[in-house]
Amino acid sequence: MGKERLAYWANWPDFIKSDTTGAWKQASSWHYVNIDPMTDFKAFEQNLKAQAGPSLYTQVNTLSSQIKDKNTSEKDRKIALIFLIHIMGDLAQPLHVGRAEDLGGNKINVTYFGEKTNLHSVWDGKLVDSQKYSYTEYSKLLDIKSKEEVAQIQSGTLEDWLYDSHKIANKIYAQTPNDSKLSYDYQYKFNETMERQLLYGGLRLAKVLNELF
Ligand SMILES: [Zn+2]
Repeated sequence: MGKERLAYWANWPDFIKSDTTGAWKQASSWHYVNIDPMTDFKAFEQNLKAQAGPSLYTQVNTLSSQIKDKNTSEKDRKIALIFLIHIMGDLAQPLHVGRAEDLGGNKINVTYFGEKTNLHSVWDGKLVDSQKYSYTEYSKLLDIKSKEEVAQIQSGTLEDWLYDSHKIANKIYAQTPNDSKLSYDYQYKFNETMERQLLYGGLRLAKVLNELF
C-alpha cells in the first residue's frame, strides 16, 4: 500500500457505488451473499457452493488469488487488496449474509431514535456510530483478547465465518420486524453482538492478510 494506511482505503469500495461511469458496476455484487434462512451448516454450505455469479463468498478467494499472483500489475493487486479488506468487513456485518427478498434488510423499514431508516443501515453504521467512539478508540477498546481467544476466533473456514454471520442475521430478522421503532432498548439488546462483529471482522481480516503476506 506504500505509505497509505489500510483503514484509509477500507470504505472506498462503498464510495465507488456512486460512480456513474459504470466502471465499477461489476463489483456491486461482491459486497454480500444472499441466502435463504438456514439453521444447518451443511445445508448452508451446499447452498453457498451452488450459487452462481460473483458474490462476497467467491470474491474473497478470487481477490486473494489476484493479490498472490505476481503477474498481476501492482495497480490491480492494490485494488484487489482494497476490495478484500472491505469485503472482509462486510462479511462480519450479519445482514451482508442475509436474505434476497428484502435485500439484506434494506427493504425492512424501521425508525432509529425517531429517524426513518432501514434495518441494513442500522447495522451498517448507526449502531456503531451511536457509541460515539472514533474508529481508533473503538479498535483499542475491543482488541483485548488473549492469544488463545484470538486463535479461537481466527480458526475455521470462510464458510464457517459466513455461517457465523448468517446465524446472527437470522436472530436480527426475528427480532426486528418491519416498522420496528428502535432506540436504547435495541442498543441494549444488540450492542454486544455489534461489538463482537467488529472485533471478529478485524481479527479474521488480520488472519487472511497474514496468510497472504
Ligand atoms: Zn460494502
